[in-house]
Amino acid sequence: MTPFSFEIFPPRTPAGEGILWHTIRRVEALNPSFVSVTYGAGGSSRDRTVDIARRIASETALRPVAHLTAIGHSVAELRHILGTYADAGIRDVLVLRGDPPGDPRGSWTPHPQGFTYARELVELVRSLSDFTIGVAAFPEMHPRSPDWEQDIRYFVAKCRAGADYAITQMFFRVEDYLRLRDRVSAAGCDIPIIPEIMPATDIRQIARFAELSGATIPLDLVRRLEAARDDPAEGHRVGVAHATAMAEHLLREGAPGLHCITLNRAAAALDIHRNIQTPRSRSAD
Ligand code: FAD
Repeated sequence: MTPFSFEIFPPRTPAGEGILWHTIRRVEALNPSFVSVTYGAGGSSRDRTVDIARRIASETALRPVAHLTAIGHSVAELRHILGTYADAGIRDVLVLRGDPPGDPRGSWTPHPQGFTYARELVELVRSLSDFTIGVAAFPEMHPRSPDWEQDIRYFVAKCRAGADYAITQMFFRVEDYLRLRDRVSAAGCDIPIIPEIMPATDIRQIARFAELSGATIPLDLVRRLEAARDDPAEGHRVGVAHATAMAEHLLREGAPGLHCITLNRAAAALDIHRNIQTPRSRSAD
């Protein structure tokens, strides 16, 4: 069985919560390795992240991974949040720096009693308890990194501070993942890097995500999604087919698992999962 995991986010409304729990029950049936719950940088979703992760830990057979971002928090607050995670039965944390507000490449001021980089939070988490620690990796380089050399140097330092594995930013070209993996390996680091799979089913949505994350969408995929702009069923087919082909290629290349973004909707993630587990029955091209 291919190690498969899913990302969800804490919804803001009771209706959104209903949709999320329907999705959680559907992915639970697939026995994934874990389900990760995002965290609003600065603490905007703090209680909801803890609440969802706690319920996953206590009410389902799933292993929750709670994201935690350093930005906007003092070290004392971060310690408190980690204590809340531990009390809620959460043993796995995805440790992130978070994005500073404003210009994605502009200057910013860290919290005076806080951290500037994810590596410092990894060190804190490692010193506190026996959490399993994940970190972020960037197949197209972090947007704030001046060059690959620096990007890889700091990524490896973050891993060596105590990370157990990494999950990538979304990407749409397998070669970007392979290049990152080879660079990290050449720097002497063998941390497992789990590729994040984003089903690109809607051109408007995916263009916005790509702009925010800096991910490049191949022209051919843009054209096919453009053609399906007003046809959600065709958009779903195109996105699932592209993600399935990427996932199969990544697994052939030895990727240690697949982490699928759900946006709290199960359909595309479940189709990709089914295609991967039973490649010959897949209907996508
Ligand atoms: P870092 O590892 O600190 O790196 C940030 C930048 O600083 C990089 O350019 C790095 O090279 C540079 N750097 C590191 N150390 C040094 C140093 N000592 N000196 C100079 N430069 C240095 N955001 C959220 O708000 N909530 C989420 O739930 C969330 N989930 C995510 C999940 C995944 C899988 C990924 C890939 C990203 C997620 N993000 C989330 C986004 C993430 O917070 C941002 O991408 C953020 O900009 C980078 O976080 P990081 O942990 O990689 O930071």
